[in-house]
Amino acid sequence: MSKSESNFLRVKCGDCGNQQIVFDHAASKVECIICGKSLVKSKGGKSEIVAQIIEVMD
Ligand SMILES: [Zn+2]
Repeated sequence: MSKSESNFLRVKCGDCGNQQIVFDHAASKVECIICGKSLVKSKGGKSEIVAQIIEVMD
């Protein structure tokens, strides 16, 4: 069992309220599937969550 800091997160789009699941170590940026607002920004392997985090999933 590896200890990982990677998680799936349920986030809420600040613009349209859509909730979707994102990976916090996504290799690329993630956008809201409804309105296209950035939810995760990729910074060279480390992701910055720019949406509201609702829940951290195991
Ligand atoms: Zn949205």
